[in-house]
Amino acid sequence: MRYGGNTACVEVCLDDGSLIIFDAGTGIRPLGQALLAQPGPVRAHLFLSHAHWDHIQGIPFFTPAYVAGTELTILGPEHGQLTLEKIVTGQMRSPYFPIPMHAMAAKIEFVKLGEGSMVQLPNGATVEATMINHPGGTLGYRLTAGGKVLAYTTDNEPFGDVAASRHLVKPSHHVYLVRDADLLVQDAQYTPEEYAPHRVGWGHSTYLDALQIAQQAHVKRLVLFHHDPSHSDAEVDDIVTRCQAQIVQQGLDIECLGAAEGSVLVL
Ligand SMILES: [Zn+2]
Ligand SMILES: [Zn+2]
Repeated sequence: MRYGGNTACVEVCLDDGSLIIFDAGTGIRPLGQALLAQPGPVRAHLFLSHAHWDHIQGIPFFTPAYVAGTELTILGPEHGQLTLEKIVTGQMRSPYFPIPMHAMAAKIEFVKLGEGSMVQLPNGATVEATMINHPGGTLGYRLTAGGKVLAYTTDNEPFGDVAASRHLVKPSHHVYLVRDADLLVQDAQYTPEEYAPHRVGWGHSTYLDALQIAQQAHVKRLVLFHHDPSHSDAEVDDIVTRCQAQIVQQGLDIECLGAAEGSVLVL
């Protein structure tokens, strides 16, 4: 009710008005409606972390994509022989969806990203990608703009067991990507009690994992993200409170909050 039930979607507005979106879960549907309520055509760079359904399922419901004049650049990883375009358009093919993606009126371009990709945006902002630890792989992103750094690392298990995780990336890679970030949006799906032993290798973090990454990377603000769908508002409150207590106990200088639908943070 308070933290929200939509799946992952983060909107970033830069000083010059340009628009970046991280992931296209169901949250991109209300975002699309908000964008259409503003004047002018919608132009956005949409960075997908990976193709798990909760990160792409909102695309068919992103209304600006059906409007002529919209320009959408979709960037993300490929999967084996599957191109990014096939991954994204595939979910709109029959029998999954009634309208094929090519029926969308927007100008849509696909850009393949992988380990170490660096994207230069027209306004001087950059987005760097690094593979992080998740079954099938996930790209973590580091956006640098106007002297500020926002890191977006959802769906990852940085300290996962080698045997249990099929795509083990060293935690140091993850830490390097998010180093000195002004804001880190980081997976914190589980409590430690929920994580071990049953959910090891499922590709998600506890709030203690999230805090450890933030601490090692000297992050200033940590947003606990990708809440477990079974958690109530009170349970998410409890996770945030426990994480904040850890920060005090360890004498760290990190601000911690829980990602909540509609919340706006200024960097
Ligand atoms: Zn995933
Ligand atoms: Zn996910």
